[in-house]
Amino acid sequence: MFETVKAHPTFNYSKGCVYSQDLYEFSEEEILAMCPSSVQKVTKMRNSNMVLLTFFGSTLPDRVHIDPINLRVRRFVSRPLQCFSCYGYGHGKSSCKEAARCGNCSALDSHSEEHCIAAAYCFHCRDAHQVCSRQCPRYHLEQDILQLANTHFISLGSARRELLKDGTGATSYASLAARSSAESVGPKTTTPATCSFGQ
Ligand SMILES: [Zn+2]
Ligand SMILES: [Zn+2]
Ligand SMILES: [Zn+2]
Repeated sequence: MFETVKAHPTFNYSKGCVYSQDLYEFSEEEILAMCPSSVQKVTKMRNSNMVLLTFFGSTLPDRVHIDPINLRVRRFVSRPLQCFSCYGYGHGKSSCKEAARCGNCSALDSHSEEHCIAAAYCFHCRDAHQVCSRQCPRYHLEQDILQLANTHFISLGSARRELLKDGTGATSYASLAARSSAESVGPKTTTPATCSFGQ
């Protein structure tokens, strides 16, 4: 009558990424076999020497030993971080130093979204939607920034500057992506300084 209750799948996991050209030639299964048992899943990123590791548990280790190399683990950020006080991007409410805004109409007079009677207005793109709307072009830009930072091993700050410097995110993203892939076939190593080998 009832199905046997199976062990609950682990939702408690954390994602980190490592960068290694040495892993590029291996399949995900082969890499997983070289990983410690704390690694649940291995995902190789295409056209990049980044490997995404899903670890059991909520604590991300600083380093991981993927036989025979020891690699630095960086947190993998999958979603743009939006502050729910000022509605800016890149920081959370707890570290916000900006004036609070209404999430519906963008007003700075600190009425809350629930009590807002004004029409929806987004100060990021000046369009008629709520400030935290996933439709907002700014949200899509933030997704691009994350993707750029994750796949090209640069900080969120540098990725943001690259994408925002000429105001036309798509163009400069394309040029950076092209430049980065050109570099990766060149003689210069793209292995980041933060990864160290053979320890
Ligand atoms: Zn804020
Ligand atoms: Zn409002
Ligand atoms: Zn918007």
